[in-house]
Amino acid sequence: MSKTIKTLRGMHDVLPGQTPGWSRLESTLSQTARHYGYQEIRMPIVEQTALFSRGIGEVTDIVEKEMYTFDDRNGDSLTLRPEGTASCVRACLEHGLIHNQQRKLWYIGPMFRHERPQKGRYRQFHQFGVEAFGVNGAEMDVELMLMASRIWQQLGITDVQLQINTLGSSDARAAHRAVLIEYLKSHADDLDEEARARLETNPLRILDSKNPAVQAVVAHAPALADYLDEADRENFAEVQHLLTAAGVSFVVNPRLVRGLDYYNRTVFEWVTESLGAQGTICAGGRYDGLVAQLGGKATPAAGFAMGLERLVELIGQADDESTADIYVLWPEPSAKGAALAAAEGLRRALPDLRIQCALDGGALKNQLKRADRSGARFAVIIEDTADADSWRVKSLRLNAPLEPIPEAPLEPAAATALLRAELAADRRTT
Ligand code: ATP
Ligand code: MG
Repeated sequence: MSKTIKTLRGMHDVLPGQTPGWSRLESTLSQTARHYGYQEIRMPIVEQTALFSRGIGEVTDIVEKEMYTFDDRNGDSLTLRPEGTASCVRACLEHGLIHNQQRKLWYIGPMFRHERPQKGRYRQFHQFGVEAFGVNGAEMDVELMLMASRIWQQLGITDVQLQINTLGSSDARAAHRAVLIEYLKSHADDLDEEARARLETNPLRILDSKNPAVQAVVAHAPALADYLDEADRENFAEVQHLLTAAGVSFVVNPRLVRGLDYYNRTVFEWVTESLGAQGTICAGGRYDGLVAQLGGKATPAAGFAMGLERLVELIGQADDESTADIYVLWPEPSAKGAALAAAEGLRRALPDLRIQCALDGGALKNQLKRADRSGARFAVIIEDTADADSWRVKSLRLNAPLEPIPEAPLEPAAATALLRAELAADRRTT
């Protein structure tokens, strides 16, 4: 026998028992985005490498060491998308979606980063992302945080904290950068290799280091907050004021810088204590410079992305292996045709329910076992009788039917009405 082939490290199948939980999550996300007036967009999974190196920034974790980059057969450098924002901006520019107009978009799908796999960190993972173009004010940033907050309510997530910060304008960042480099240089001996390598290229990222030794140095570093200009300060004050007015609680975390280069002004993360080390379930902010950086006209923009694996883990969806609500049985081979027809009749009459027919037939006892394993609430038994129009209905679950189920066979119409009533009640209670 030849060796079986397995999935790649850090990439996972979502199994049949798990997909109902994923679907429920995805539909909550898409419905909420729609509710806020966002339109869905779908971008390709593979793009030109230059889109990400230019969009995300050369000196970021993602571009330096996490991208799946390869040459295709024409020798073009391609990359599996590590995030959605750059692709979304590319699509907007290519199709004129943000030319002199506001546009709010959402997407969902797989992203790829070559990271060290661990709980909550994978090489193929999924994001739900939203991007809003053409609005400058603090109200845009706050509406995004309100939307995330509504999503937590809808998913029943309570143990989550909103952290916010401002990165200011590019002028403020340049002024801060100069003093930060000076400070870090004077403590170079206490930095790790990665931080030293970043000193000149991307010192802001050192503030984000997870190494405790580096964090100790960073604790006393000059704060970006002291270099903000008046307009940035007012903008950040307004963000906080609007959040408070909307009843969204938050903490200001001056160390929040985000991993990607393109952010300015408001940045935010939603963090939970319930997931261990990888506790950020949503991250986003404003990125007014990106559209121009990718060749468009300067356009204010803001957005966020949520990691779906972390959300699935957090809301703890139980596996759901059930595949039927009603199972049609035919104990005698001669009833096979009548059973197939009965199942079709039920599918027409009850379009929201899952109807299975006992394929392969066999003894009644075995068919009942299969029906039970499917999770069906009811069996419909088509007996071998010249009169194929009599169905016997049997309750398969412990929760008692609303009405006693007659022992005697029923007319199909009566049986269907009974099943409709019973299973409509079932859907209300589950
Ligand atoms: P970190 O600093 O933890 O690496 P990041 O800044 O790279 O995070 P973003 O690029 O902002 O993360 O991604 C947004 C969200 O997507 C994260 O908050 C997280 O929920 C999720 N996410 C990011 N990378 C991964 C991954 N490798 N596996 C699973 N989820 C991820
Ligand atoms: Mg990362």
